[in-house]
Amino acid sequence: MPAVPSAGSFSIVILIDIAQLTDEGRRVVGEEPANLLGLDGDPVVSEAGPIRYDLTVEPAGDKLIVRGEAEASLGFHCSRCDKFFSTTVRVSSFLHTYEWAEHSAMLDVSADVREDLLLEIPGFPLCRADCKGLCPQCGQDLNEAACDCSPATDGLSPWSALDGWAVKPASKPAAGKPQADSR
Ligand SMILES: [Zn+2]
Ligand SMILES: [Zn+2]
Repeated sequence: MPAVPSAGSFSIVILIDIAQLTDEGRRVVGEEPANLLGLDGDPVVSEAGPIRYDLTVEPAGDKLIVRGEAEASLGFHCSRCDKFFSTTVRVSSFLHTYEWAEHSAMLDVSADVREDLLLEIPGFPLCRADCKGLCPQCGQDLNEAACDCSPATDGLSPWSALDGWAVKPASKPAAGKPQADSR
């Protein structure tokens, strides 16, 4: 597992003005510079573009509910071929609740947006789903050309390494119903 990027300094904030909030709520759509995520210097992930968000804040009693989505363009090194590529990481169902009393005029949701985006970072980023990777023997990028030592398996799937695993069926149904035999 690549290390989760450390909680380095991130300077930009996403603030929602709640001073005049009505029952209707408020929608905020915007864009922030990429350094919100504080990924500078991370060996695995880098920020390639701005963070975009589309959030709605609604009052609910003494709480504020913020929901919506956010996305960021991030750069990765492919886990298989080590090429750099960029892709969009998206939080499609941002949902956080805040105590209204703790936020008088401005609600700062940047830490939660950041955290949710970081959770969407793939553990094994792939430049494309069928990336063939590098030959483990000669290092040839198999996306560009085959090599003599590469085995003749075109359908190299992400799960091919699992093919050799012996899958033992559970010997008995799990003990979920302890009273199944009591009769
Ligand atoms: Zn790749
Ligand atoms: Zn090879």
